[in-house]
Amino acid sequence: MLTMSMPAAAFILVSVVVLALALAFGFFVGWWRLRLTTAALNAEKRRLEATLGIVFDPYVITETLRDGAGRVVDFLYKDANRAACAWIGVDRDRLLGRRMLDVDPAVATSGLFGILVDAAERGIPVSADAFPIPRGTDGVHWLDIRAERVEGGLGIAWRDVTERRKAEAILERRASTDELTNLLNRKEALKQVETLNRRGGRGLAALWCDIDRFKLVNDTYGHAAGDAVLQALADRIRGCLRSTDDIGARIGGDELLVLLHGVRGLDDAMNVAEMLRSRAAEPIPTTAGQVAITLSIGVTIANPNESTDALLARADDAMYQAKNRGRNQVVAIAADASVG
Ligand code: GH3
Ligand code: MG
Repeated sequence: MLTMSMPAAAFILVSVVVLALALAFGFFVGWWRLRLTTAALNAEKRRLEATLGIVFDPYVITETLRDGAGRVVDFLYKDANRAACAWIGVDRDRLLGRRMLDVDPAVATSGLFGILVDAAERGIPVSADAFPIPRGTDGVHWLDIRAERVEGGLGIAWRDVTERRKAEAILERRASTDELTNLLNRKEALKQVETLNRRGGRGLAALWCDIDRFKLVNDTYGHAAGDAVLQALADRIRGCLRSTDDIGARIGGDELLVLLHGVRGLDDAMNVAEMLRSRAAEPIPTTAGQVAITLSIGVTIANPNESTDALLARADDAMYQAKNRGRNQVVAIAADASVG
C-alpha cells in the first residue's frame, strides 16, 4: 500500500484548493465579462432600436431566404421600425419572422422583388426613386427606396413620396396646360411634336385650326362668350382625338393645333379635319345666346426626318390657303416627297 508523508499530502491538498480557487476565479471573471458584454450589447441594441424607432422613414432589416439551389426566394423580416410597421400595416410582433412576399405580394408584382434579389445576390446598393408600388385599395404609391446588404440579408429604407409626386404632377400639368381650354399650351405642344417627330415622323399629321372672324364673336357677344366658345371648341377637339398619342393644343389666341399619330395618309387626316370642321360649326350655347363659329383648317403630314418648324409651317400655310379660299374649309398640303 502506498503511503504518503503528512507534508506531501498537505502540499497536494493546498495545491488542489489553490487550483480550484484559480479556476473558480477565472470562471467568475469570464462570466462577469460575458455579463458586461451582453449588457453592453443589449444596451446597444436598445439604443439602435430607439434610433430606428424615431427615424421618420420606414426601415426594415431582412434575412435572405434561399432554396436548395441557393436562389433567393424571399426575405424574412428580422427587424422593423415603427414607421415601417405603420406603413406595412402589421404590428411589429406579428411582422418579425414573416416572409416579405406573404406580407405584401405587391413587392413581387411591382418588380421590386427582382431589384432586391439583385442587391442581395450582387451586393449592389439599391437607389430607386419614385418607384410605383400598388397599395391595396389606396392605389399606387410612389416610393424612394434604398437597400443595402447587411449580414445575411438586406437593410431596406423607403420614403413615401406619393403626395410630393401628386403636387409635382399638378405643377407639371399647370405648366403644360392652357388654363382656359385645358388643352396643351404652345410650349408643351411644340415639345411633344418634337418627340413624336423624333420617333420617326411617319404617320404624323398636323391640323392647324384658326377660328374664322373670332374678333367679331367677341365684339358681338362679349369676351366671356368668346371664352365659352373656346372652351366648347376644345371639348369638340378632345372628342376628335383617336388615341392617347393624339394631341390637342391651343397655340395662340384662337389658333388650335391637332396632332394625329399613326394616320394612314393625307385622306385619313383630312377626314378627321372635316369631322372637326363640321362639329365646330354646330351652334355653341353661351350666356349671351347661341354662337355659331366656323374653322379654317390646314392639314399636312410629316416627312421623315423633317424638322418640327418645317412641318408646322406647312400646316400653317395650308390654313392660310383655307382663309384665302373663303374660310370654313379644310385645305391639305401633301408631304414633300423630295424631302424623304
Ligand atoms: P380670321 O378669320 O382672319 O382669323 O379673323 P379673326 O377675327 O379670328 O382674326 P384673328 O385670328 O387674327 O384674331 C384672333 C382674335 O381672337 C383676337 C382676339 O380678340 C381673340 N382672342 C384671342 N385670345 C382670346 C381669348 O383668350 N378669349 C377671347 N374671348 N378671345 C380671344
Ligand atoms: Mg382667327
